Amino acid sequence: MKLKMVWMYHDLMDLYGDKGNTEVIRRRCEKRGIECVVDTCTIGEEADLSSYDLFFLGGGADREQSLIFEDLISRKQDIEKAMESGTTFLLICGGYQLFGKYYKDQDGNIIDGLGFFDYYTESTDRDHRCIGNIALEVTMDGDTFKAVGFENHGGQTKNVTTPLGKVLFGHGNTYKSGYEGFVRDNVLATYMHGPLLPKNPMIADRIIKRALKRSYGDVTLEKLDDTIEDKAREVMLKRLKV
Ligand code: GLN
Repeated sequence: MKLKMVWMYHDLMDLYGDKGNTEVIRRRCEKRGIECVVDTCTIGEEADLSSYDLFFLGGGADREQSLIFEDLISRKQDIEKAMESGTTFLLICGGYQLFGKYYKDQDGNIIDGLGFFDYYTESTDRDHRCIGNIALEVTMDGDTFKAVGFENHGGQTKNVTTPLGKVLFGHGNTYKSGYEGFVRDNVLATYMHGPLLPKNPMIADRIIKRALKRSYGDVTLEKLDDTIEDKAREVMLKRLKV
């Protein structure tokens, strides 16, 4: 089996170690004998995005978002084609925001999003920035579990009707929101840096399964030893008292 991933704007959108997500996908595939190809694609580079099983876009500060959004929008048709062909999308923070209608920064400048979904993001004042550790209760594919991460965003994402999880500690989509992230079909979008996948291997495996589905249908993934990852998550959940 082979999983093909494209890491978009790897040189600009890589906050708080988001790159670690690509490493986790690669390692967890390789440990199971699944070949994993990670290509990168940045401003001006040609790519056939619908040829990938997994599309990954990390977070970025307002500056990076304003640098990439035009290039991203120029790829809208190709991204749409990828969505229709069953590509899985993992979007973190700034990447999450850019799949919605728009992102309005603190100075009132509007950065257009792809507009695939009805949510939109507007920046808040400094006192209401969402910063710190975050813990969620997530239900995916019928299982409920706790996930941990780190958030740092001024953007308040509103009009999310299908969040990723319930906030147990931290903020989420908006200041003290109660809910975090967005899921729809093959798209998982979240404010959780950390990075997300090394801290939450159960999310990593679900993403690998979804990505493989495009070419191989439902596959059963061999279980890996996650003792260390699980212990690390337990320490954080205990510290946050959730
Ligand atoms: N610039 C965006 C915000 O502050 C996204 C930040 C991020 O990706 N961490 O909301």
